[in-house]
Amino acid sequence: MTFIEPTADRQHTALAPDLRSLPDRAARAWTERMAVRPRAGSTYAVTTESESTYLVDIAQHSCSCPDNRIRGEHCKHLRRVAIEITAKRVAPPGKERAICDVCGAVTFVAADARTPHLCGNCRLETGDIVQDRESGDRLVVVRVADERASEWTIEATGETVADHDTNDGYPPDDLVVLATYLSDAVSATEPREYAFPLSRLRRVEDAELVGGGTQ
Ligand SMILES: [Zn+2]
Ligand SMILES: [Zn+2]
Repeated sequence: MTFIEPTADRQHTALAPDLRSLPDRAARAWTERMAVRPRAGSTYAVTTESESTYLVDIAQHSCSCPDNRIRGEHCKHLRRVAIEITAKRVAPPGKERAICDVCGAVTFVAADARTPHLCGNCRLETGDIVQDRESGDRLVVVRVADERASEWTIEATGETVADHDTNDGYPPDDLVVLATYLSDAVSATEPREYAFPLSRLRRVEDAELVGGGTQ
């Protein structure tokens, strides 16, 4: 749903390098206009300014160009693929470029990753300990739902998560997180799940847990 095309797929782009000390072949990897498109496995198609397309296998360190295949050189196409991956303009092998469903940042997810797609900063996972920014209570994440706060109806009240009065000020298009209160986990009863807008919950880092926390 949120997979996006790599930018390098559409644009022939020269990247800004520091070329002063680079040998010629390495410098051209930076300055020449090339389009890089991920292919199956660890392969990438690189199309040059002159519209020649070569197949680079980043895992095999090989390229189908004469420079690499015949002369055995570490060619500019191979270098360019490495540059594009490092710059996060093209996904590394096995990953897809995606937009974080929370903050909109570019991130990389497994090709078969389920939605929502979340970047490292926004990612909450089952079992994560979080703190409710409103009450200060600590909760355990059950799961991140695909639905937005404006789409999720709270059974007990019949209103959406977005309309719930304590969620005033949180984005209605926040993803819904289901969580149980940490204090409920120690009681005998089955912990009840509550729905929160994602940005209302702050992940509690391991160091805080060990140190006794902030509240
Ligand atoms: Zn090459
Ligand atoms: Zn994010």
